[in-house]
This record gives sequence, C-alpha cells and structure tokens, in this order.
Amino acid sequence: MPDLLTLNDRQGTYPKSYYAATAPEMPGYGALDGDVECDVCVIGAGYCGLSAALHLAEAGFSVRLIDAQRVGWGASGRNGGQLGTGQRVDQQTLEKMVGSDHARQLWDVAQGSKALVKSLVSKHSIDCDLKPGIVYTDHKRRFVDETKAYVEHLNRVYGYEEISFLDRQQTMDAVGTDVYFGGSLDWGAGHLHPLNFALGLARAAADSGAKIHENTRALEVKYGKKPRVLTESGTVTSDHVLFACNGYLGALQPEIAARVMPINSYIIATEPLGEARARSIIRDDVAVADSRFVVNYYRFSKDHRMLFGGRESYGYKYPDDIATAVKQRMLGIYPQLDDVKVDYYWGGTLGITLNRMPHFARLAPNALTASGFSGHGLGMATYSGYLMAEAVKGDAAGFDVMEKVPTHRFPGGTALRQPLLILAMLYYALRDRF
Ligand SMILES: Cc1cc2nc3c(=O)[nH]c(=O)nc-3n(C[C@H](O)[C@H](O)[C@H](O)COP(=O)(O)OP(=O)(O)OC[C@H]3O[C@@H](n4cnc5c(N)ncnc54)[C@H](O)[C@@H]3O)c2cc1C
Repeated sequence: MPDLLTLNDRQGTYPKSYYAATAPEMPGYGALDGDVECDVCVIGAGYCGLSAALHLAEAGFSVRLIDAQRVGWGASGRNGGQLGTGQRVDQQTLEKMVGSDHARQLWDVAQGSKALVKSLVSKHSIDCDLKPGIVYTDHKRRFVDETKAYVEHLNRVYGYEEISFLDRQQTMDAVGTDVYFGGSLDWGAGHLHPLNFALGLARAAADSGAKIHENTRALEVKYGKKPRVLTESGTVTSDHVLFACNGYLGALQPEIAARVMPINSYIIATEPLGEARARSIIRDDVAVADSRFVVNYYRFSKDHRMLFGGRESYGYKYPDDIATAVKQRMLGIYPQLDDVKVDYYWGGTLGITLNRMPHFARLAPNALTASGFSGHGLGMATYSGYLMAEAVKGDAAGFDVMEKVPTHRFPGGTALRQPLLILAMLYYALRDRF
C-alpha cells in the first residue's frame, strides 16, 4: 500500500485546486517542537479533527491538533462541497439494516450535522459561499418511481418537507439537460467552498485556544493511561487521543485500516462561464448529484465556474488525464460546454467502508476514532468531531449511536481488497452505462 500522504502531493503544499487558488491568505501553523502534555491530542486537521479540537477548546480542554500536512489539506479541502441530507445510506436501507428506531436516531444525527455546519459558518463568520439546495437526478428511467416513493417516505415518516420530487420536465428545467428522467430537489441540503470552511474552523479552534501543528506526522501511538503520540519533532502526551485521519490513515492504526479503504476522486474547474450561462445550466445555483454508482457531482462556484467531479480511476497514483477524462464526463451531460477551458483539476482521497456507513470505534477507553464517511463527510465528519468531543467531555450517547452501526472488515485484507474493489467498481461502472 503506497503512502497516500506523499504519493500525489508535495510535502506541506496544497494541491493546485480551484479552492487553494481562491482561499484567503493562509497563515500556517508551526510544526510541533519538543515534548508537550495536554488533555487531548487530535490527529488529522480535516473537518473531523478541526471540529473536535474546536469543541474541546471551547469547553476549556487543552488541545494539540497535529496534521502531517496542512489544515484542510486532505479531503476536507478538495471535495465537491455538497452538504447532503441524511446519512450516505438512504433511510429505507438503514431501516432494514439496523431497525427503524436506530435508523431514526441516525437520521437525527444527520440532521444535526447539517445544522452544525450552518451554525458554525454563521457563529464564526466563515466566508465560504454557503448556499442552499441540491438536486439529485436519476440517470435511468426505472429509478424515478423509487425516488418519488423515497421523497414521500421522508415527507411522511421523517416529517422532512424540504425535499420534493421532480418529474422529467422539472428536472430538465432545474439542471439544463435532458439526460435525466427525474429526481428530487432538497432545499435543506446545500453547498460551500470546502477549503475555506476548513480554514475557518481552524481559525475558530485556534482562537478558542487549541494549538495546531502542521507538518507534524504521527508516526506511532503508544496506548496507555496517558497515550503518547510520537512524531519526528516531538511527542504529545495526553489523557485522550482522537484519530481523524480518514482516507490518509495508512498503516498508523491497522484496526481502522481494515475497515476503512481509501479511494480517489477527481474534480475539474472550468474557466468562468458568466452568470447568464451558469444560470442557463443550473437555474437556482444549487448543487447536483446523479444516481450513477460512479457518481457525477457538480455545481457552480461563486465566480461561475463549473466545478465537476466524477471518478473512474483504479489505482492510488493520480492518472495523467484527469482534466480530459473528467471533462468527457461533463460533456456527456452538457455537450454545449465543449468550447470551455479547464482551468484547474485535482484529485483527493476519501475513506469508504463496506456498507458506506462511517466507522466509529473505541480503540482504547481513551482513544476514539471516526472515519469512512464514504463521500458524505462534509456534514458527518464535522459532526463526528463534535460527537468525539462530547464523548471526551463525558456524554457518549451520540458517539454510541454511530458506533452501534456494524462496520465490517474488507474481504481480502489490505493486500487483496483493492483488486477486489477494482473488480466491483468496473462491474458497477459498466452497469451505470447500460
Ligand atoms: C474529490 C472528493 C470529493 C468529495 N465530495 C464530497 C461532497 O461533495 N460532499 C461530502 O459530504 N463529502 C465529499 N467528499 C468526502 C469528504 O471530503 C470527506 O468525507 C471529509 O472531508 C472527511 O474529513 P476528515 O476530517 O475525516 O478527513 P480529511 O479531510 O481527509 O483529513 C484527514 C487529515 O488527516 C491527516 N493525517 C493523516 N494521517 C496522519 C498522520 N499519521 N499524522 C498526522 N496527520 C495525519 C491528513 O493530512 C489530513 O489532513 C469528497 C471527497 C473527495 C476526495
């Protein structure tokens, strides 16, 4: 397994993404220098670790947050920016998986995650272009009845009225293409500039007293009453340690690595299209995600660039043709964008689990982990950090709701699981087409 913290990126440097190019000046946080003690050591400064550090610092805990790279350098600074409703797995599937009472608790957690993101943005004045709305589109006619039934289920059983069904014409009007057969529009969901959200969380955490160290990689964790996190430039000894490394965890904790597998996803940003052309495609400036297994997800940036994400790469090294391959997928939906230049392209690594539900675990009484958000971490990773902070403070009820969801080891172990995944993805990618 290659080292994903260094395979595709230069040490201490953000990828050349549209997000990094449009982020405000980034102050940078110094590396750990020497041996220190604190209440809580958090490993990983994505949404999960940042949110944990922020909530703990606000509650008066002394916190050291270390990241091998930079704040928001991982998936949190590179993603599609879509703040979706619910868990990654739909409620009807969850009801079958864990029963209706537990499924309801998982729904409440997911609703809490959206509310938390919105309230953090407003409380800490984070300038991240947060806007409402996601349209989910059906790329096959036979999915449309299921979508209609699911919208009714959310309206009726969960009392969730912010989502409505779209017929074919309404979908066409909303997203400016006739390739879809129907879908739904969810005004409770939203989208934002993901890196600016992460940087805003870091500022809030630092202002609350958390000490952040970039370029500080955890090399080993020694468990015990006072866990010790060993890095090249010092050791953090604390009462609690929290793992928030998601797809970039590598071999640091084998028990998590067996259940959370990294995969890559890729995004392009076109040149600015101007407001009129952007609104002729996505009328209401919402985000869009389609029903493909290899999902297409897209939206417009504040300066009217199409940010289009899609993935079909079966290896950890980024392919050379990200820009052309992802543009090709975009043209399959919007052939009218053929003349448009791609200004930025980049990749990122996310963590998936076998059943696409996050993996929460207690590795020791004072060592917690949350990861494997399976492409649905904007809200859920942020909320997971809050739930881990609550657990450290003594209220583990929310953490337990998530930990109770069974997550399984990937078959094939760390050596064979990737070839097995490739086979499965090729199969589903083919099914997307036919
Ligand atoms: C291209 C792409 C598109 C996506 N689109 C969406 C979307 O539209 N909506 C959505 O909800 N989700 C999306 N996701 C998923 C979402 O971005 C993630 O679920 C979320 O950001 C996970 O946050 P995190 O804090 O758990 O992990 P990350 O943001 O990946 O952070 C982990 C951090 O841990 C650090 N780290 C790892 N190992 C060590 C170590 N040994 N020592 C110190 N630090 C370490 C890394 O440097 C990294 O900064 C997407 C992901 C990608 C890659």
